[in-house]
Amino acid sequence: MSKKDYYELLGVPRDASDRDIKKAYRRLAMKYHPDRNPDDKDAEDKFKELSEAYEVLSDAQKKAAYDQFGHAGVDGQGMGGGFRGGFEGNFSDIFGDVFGDIFGGGGGQRRSSVQRGADLRYNLDLTLEEAVRGCEKSLRVPTLVSCEVCDGSGAKPGTSAKTCGTCGGMGQVRMQQGFFSVQQTCPTCHGAGKVIADPCNACHGQGRVEKVKTLQVKIPAGVDTGDRIRLSGEGEAGANGGPAGDLYVQVSVREHPIFQRDGKHLHCEVPISFVDAALGGELDVPTLDGRVKLKVPAETQTGKLFRLRGKGITPVRGGSVGDLMVRVIVETPVSLNSRQKELLREFQEATEEGKHKHSPKRHGFFDSVKKFFEDMT
Ligand SMILES: [Zn+2]
Ligand SMILES: [Zn+2]
Repeated sequence: MSKKDYYELLGVPRDASDRDIKKAYRRLAMKYHPDRNPDDKDAEDKFKELSEAYEVLSDAQKKAAYDQFGHAGVDGQGMGGGFRGGFEGNFSDIFGDVFGDIFGGGGGQRRSSVQRGADLRYNLDLTLEEAVRGCEKSLRVPTLVSCEVCDGSGAKPGTSAKTCGTCGGMGQVRMQQGFFSVQQTCPTCHGAGKVIADPCNACHGQGRVEKVKTLQVKIPAGVDTGDRIRLSGEGEAGANGGPAGDLYVQVSVREHPIFQRDGKHLHCEVPISFVDAALGGELDVPTLDGRVKLKVPAETQTGKLFRLRGKGITPVRGGSVGDLMVRVIVETPVSLNSRQKELLREFQEATEEGKHKHSPKRHGFFDSVKKFFEDMT
């Protein structure tokens, strides 16, 4: 089935605002809603198409994917087969969102005013050493906490919230509008079901106050960029006595001047003099636990990789310790005085005769280049 353009379906331009999209959907969905078109298959199909379009265009992430890739960008994600397959199942979420209480379910179904607090995210930068060894950090997190004066109730101490007289504590009122039975959020208590006659002075009746919380967090050894640590119940306090949200500590590890990290392995480059490279020698190599000696064999070429087993990182989720990969880089000597230059020239002359033996790569290479140009002519 070739699918219609979501914007065309809703009859809005591609740059329509969220509000316009919502308005257009609301208008069309009212028209094609199955309740108003009983036993009308076309209306039902149309309604499904509209709802699908709206679900995508009302979600910033899906909308961006759709704008960029069209249907291919959103098919098979989020919507799931569930929506198209089972009509009853999935639309209640977006429906509740757009229509609020207009189609409110009959039978005294009421939306609870008790709300879980929002989750918070804290971006934590660590040095490589902190990430590898683990550490303890104190985080200052601006958040909403339950008001201590009124214990989160929002009512002045000694008083309490009264059940709302308008809605009888339901938070919703029903009204007859045409042939719809319309349920709306109670205008007196705004859905809370309770009214506070004497609001608490500290929180102005909100039950929550803004506060910068200081939290001690243990960072386990081995964490890496992208790891998340969840602190249950340390997010924002809930509304009207709801449970608090969680705090997610999002780890990112800063670059290190010497080591590059690759999962549990570490990489570093160590310069070596061309004499040591030629004759072999011992090299001081840095590790996270201090220096170690690395034996470099004679005739070591630049770029050669040495693996130091177990000198990497112990992964946070367990498993074997990683390795340290040391790449030696032969350094060309600089700032030579005339005596040193003379010695090098002498060295060159001394090796001239056996040059194919002493620099096999170089001479092999120039032989190839020579052959390449000969073949061309
Ligand atoms: Zn009320
Ligand atoms: Zn209070």
